[in-house]
Amino acid sequence: MSVTARNPAGVRTVLLASPRSFCAGVERAIAIVEHLLDHRDGPVYVRKQIVHNTHVVADLQARGAVFVEELDAVPDGATVVFSAHGVSPAVRTKAADRGLDVIDATCPLVTKVHTEARRFAARGDTVILIGHAGHEEVEGTLGEAPDQTILLQTAEDVADLHVADPTRVSYLTQTTLAVDETAEIIHALQSRFPALQGPASDDICYATTNRQHALTAIAEESDLVLVVGSTNSSNSLRLVELARRHGTPSYLIDDPTDIHPEWLQGARVIGLTAGASAPPRLVNAVIAALAELGPLTVVEHETTRETVHFALPTPVRQS
Ligand code: SF4
Repeated sequence: MSVTARNPAGVRTVLLASPRSFCAGVERAIAIVEHLLDHRDGPVYVRKQIVHNTHVVADLQARGAVFVEELDAVPDGATVVFSAHGVSPAVRTKAADRGLDVIDATCPLVTKVHTEARRFAARGDTVILIGHAGHEEVEGTLGEAPDQTILLQTAEDVADLHVADPTRVSYLTQTTLAVDETAEIIHALQSRFPALQGPASDDICYATTNRQHALTAIAEESDLVLVVGSTNSSNSLRLVELARRHGTPSYLIDDPTDIHPEWLQGARVIGLTAGASAPPRLVNAVIAALAELGPLTVVEHETTRETVHFALPTPVRQS
């Protein structure tokens, strides 16, 4: 029986996708900054947004973290945190040259992609990095072997690729891409380069994959899908696109104040999820805001249970 058939007229239903919201990499990155703010003397600088969420950044800023775009804004010798998206080797070198006290909050699953980039480049391959131009994670990964790496954004672009040796090509992906679209791009690459090699396990991370599967399970039963996340959050944007590909109107909201009343007209079943960088409390705030508009039933739909946890870096644990 569908959700609408179960509910009496006048009652709105929220279908809550699970898993949603914070992933292990985001929790670790935020915990690193919080730990440093609590235990270190002096300012804690963070290069770029620690994770792509305006509320997370504002909260940490309010607690004293100083967010900067580049290392030039960090005084010599100061503590600086690298964000969850990772950095290129050039940034690491610059920080070392400046004598900065670096704490690395790069997600271990982004580090995995960097390691693969170095390994593939070291064996002489042209490395095709599937990802979005300008994203911080992509810029960091490209920096591992810039002369041997080509950024690929769409399946249509495969035909235009020029590689030194078509028998020595490997691919990597950004961790937060759409699973279905990326499979199409990899298929196009395999057709063009039959000897193509890839990572031993998917680069699209468990959290991105799980959130997309969870949303797929509720998207078509929903009249509207709201995704909590910020506009620069890649995995949140992919969730909005995914819901729309299932034929359901979908919008990205930073918090309940972004909800336009006209979106809710005629929407009896509202699918709700959150990107991996969006705090769970914002999902609760959206539910509370919807409940103020009339009777509401909340049904959680869990497709898998996540148990991944990443330990804090040793220098943080020891401080
Ligand atoms: S979305 Fe994936 S890669 Fe990014 S921080 Fe979370 S677990 Fe790590």
